[in-house]
Amino acid sequence: MNEQKLSQRLMRVAEGIPTGTRLADIGSDHAYLPTYLVLTQKIAYAVAGEVVAGPYQAAKKIVMRSGLEKRIQVRLANGLAAIQPEDKITGISICGMGGSLIQSILEAGQKNGQLSGSEQLFLQPNIGEYALRKWLANNHYQITDEEIIAEDGKKYEIIFAQKSPVPVSYSEKELFFGPCLLEKNSVIFHEKWLDEIKKKKLLLQKLEQAATKPKEKIAGIKALIQAIEEVV
Ligand code: SAM
Repeated sequence: MNEQKLSQRLMRVAEGIPTGTRLADIGSDHAYLPTYLVLTQKIAYAVAGEVVAGPYQAAKKIVMRSGLEKRIQVRLANGLAAIQPEDKITGISICGMGGSLIQSILEAGQKNGQLSGSEQLFLQPNIGEYALRKWLANNHYQITDEEIIAEDGKKYEIIFAQKSPVPVSYSEKELFFGPCLLEKNSVIFHEKWLDEIKKKKLLLQKLEQAATKPKEKIAGIKALIQAIEEVV
């Protein structure tokens, strides 16, 4: 992967970012996503935020190498503190982190006034999708689209969200599987959850063979398997 050829995961995020978005890419690492979007002229302005010095330097190097210092501001900052009011950001991408970290970045941004609610959100949690969807709903964000991407033997969920003027509510099933993913009912969605069932059944076998069976845990896993089997 580089700034000219994104991974499939970041490419799908890039495809979902509307033309002309003023993007803040938080946890940008090498700044591949904003650099690709500016190089392909889909967007004209971005902030690449990084909290760790090494990836921040890597991002600066890629942006300089591409001659985009005027269009991409690389900033060493924690979460949405990378955003300044004059950036007039209209979209925020946070990719390749756990859902709980994404959630805490959004939460802090909301408290500190860096997340105004007018920005579109482009999120790619590696894990913890349920809790992230719950945070979005609790904070009046509607999930506008979702995707699953398979890459290097892993499956990644991508969530696009936008603040809603009215309260947002999702069922437990929608929070768990993703409201748009449920509706799309794609082959890869089925593959993901059939794999999950296999993993849970293996775990169940092990727990049932244990000298002291953790009854509550076993019951929880059985209920989860049943819930997944009702969908796939
Ligand atoms: N976004 C890129 C992608 O999806 O390929 C890079 C993902 S990388 C695994 C996660 C990056 O997020 C790391 O470079 C890490 O330093 C950065 N990061 C973690 N917490 C952060 C925070 N609170 N603020 C800004 N960057 C953060």
